[in-house]
Amino acid sequence: MKAYTITRDNLGAWLDALARDYTLIAPVREEESVSLFKPVSGFAEINLGYTNSTVSPKGWLFPQTEEMFFFSTGGDQITLADAQTPGPAVLFGLRPCDIKGILALDPVFNGAYQDCYYQKRRQDTILVGLSCTRVERDCFCTSMGGGPTDGGGADLLLTEIDGGYGIEVLTPRGEKLVNRYQQYFDADRENRVIPAREELGKKLAGHFTRNVDTTGLKEFLDQHFELPYWGELARRCLGCGICTYICPTCHCFDIFDQSPDGESGVRSRCWDSCMFSHFTRMAGGHNPRPTQKERVRNRFLHKLKYHRDRYNLDGCVGCGRCVTRCPVNIDIRQIIADLQEVARHE
Ligand code: SF4
Ligand code: SF4
Repeated sequence: MKAYTITRDNLGAWLDALARDYTLIAPVREEESVSLFKPVSGFAEINLGYTNSTVSPKGWLFPQTEEMFFFSTGGDQITLADAQTPGPAVLFGLRPCDIKGILALDPVFNGAYQDCYYQKRRQDTILVGLSCTRVERDCFCTSMGGGPTDGGGADLLLTEIDGGYGIEVLTPRGEKLVNRYQQYFDADRENRVIPAREELGKKLAGHFTRNVDTTGLKEFLDQHFELPYWGELARRCLGCGICTYICPTCHCFDIFDQSPDGESGVRSRCWDSCMFSHFTRMAGGHNPRPTQKERVRNRFLHKLKYHRDRYNLDGCVGCGRCVTRCPVNIDIRQIIADLQEVARHE
């Protein structure tokens, strides 16, 4: 694996060049306490000091609202026209848990069912990861098979080292990007980048405030669909859906048409949430998840069991966003611990 170093000044110049040549999506501070990923015009707009953005970066590959196609009718004819897609892009500054979040979305949109919208954006987007330098109170990525310096899944991984950043090339696509801008990089002649990242990873591993153990949990949930625990949890849940909107792996959506004249318009999709009461309501009025109990159970079974059943991957990457933002302090780490306790007494 090749590694390079880049000075802070050159990092700024490289990012300015990337913004000229690609759509560059990077972390930006919107308000005092809100950070998110959005297209930027250069380094000056980027905030590299964040640990975990308020909203996950999945919105670049799976936008909150996305036009799918335009339609018009005339006589017996229906004419369809593709919506525009953004083209070559660099998604810069992804934290390791969010890279894993993208890996969890891939088989959903790019597996047995090919979603042309996600697929196009994914193909056109180069992923540049950024190792964490600190661990937030609610982070628990190491419990979910990740780690604060584990960039697997990205094309390039940056890690802050003395005097600048180390860059590891993880894919041929990442190598092509570095080669295109080689004037900004120096070869890692002293081989210090990978040891520095590994050292940082070891140091940060001791900073997690809470670790959870999911060993055997899926197997327990395979056998125990009905548990009184879900009813107890549901009494607290407000059904606000915040947890699903900010989660890097949640991917439910709704499709709708807008046609002011009834003859032409646009079909779009937008994020939906399994925590909403109407999410599973059918046209005839039947709702297979009629109360919050079924909805809460679905969300957590999706994270801890269904995603594994379908793709052999955890549906939770331990980013901790839902823990931080839930208005009634529903904490997936506590849920895992509680379910393990229930399993022990079975
Ligand atoms: S954020 Fe909390 S209260 Fe809102 S739907 Fe999710 S679990 Fe329920
Ligand atoms: S369930 Fe919560 S902690 Fe897990 S990936 Fe989603 S937002 Fe992050």
